[in-house]
Amino acid sequence: MERTLVILKPGCLQRGLIGEVISRFEKRGLKLVAMKMVQLDEEILKVHYAHLLDRPFFPWLRDGMMAAPVILCCWEGYSAVQVVRDMAGATKASKAVPGTIRGDYSLHTPHNVIHASDSDESAKREINLFFKEDEIIDWHDENAKWF
Ligand code: UDP
Ligand code: MG
Repeated sequence: MERTLVILKPGCLQRGLIGEVISRFEKRGLKLVAMKMVQLDEEILKVHYAHLLDRPFFPWLRDGMMAAPVILCCWEGYSAVQVVRDMAGATKASKAVPGTIRGDYSLHTPHNVIHASDSDESAKREINLFFKEDEIIDWHDENAKWF
């Protein structure tokens, strides 16, 4: 069973999309094993987006991610990393197809609503970065057999 990290970006909170986005993952059958609202700072964003530090849009990305609180979620399920990536849709808002979260709720790439881990390795690193071990709860999902 895989786990993946989703960040509901500041625009998601500001636009009142949190319920809708979380609902999609729940309905898909993914199991929520951790969730919290935090105000991100520059220090953690430099680690999380280390691969993008040299990109010209990094300052904009960093400031955008600090513009309001975010909701951090850890979802568990079969092939959770790929499933959630596919549900998120393409990075570039104009390429994100309708039916995906980005394709339904974003028009401009910097405002692409959510972050989703891009590999099992990234997921493990990101979950460790944002959650302490005791914040992840391995509860028994009574409905799991139906998914
Ligand atoms: N981003 C941007 N312009 C770009 C590429 C990325 O504003 O040309 C932002 C966008 O919000 C994206 C984030 O930087 O979600 C992280 O980029 P990454 O390439 O990791 O895309 P993701 O994994 O989020 O799809
Ligand atoms: Mg990425």
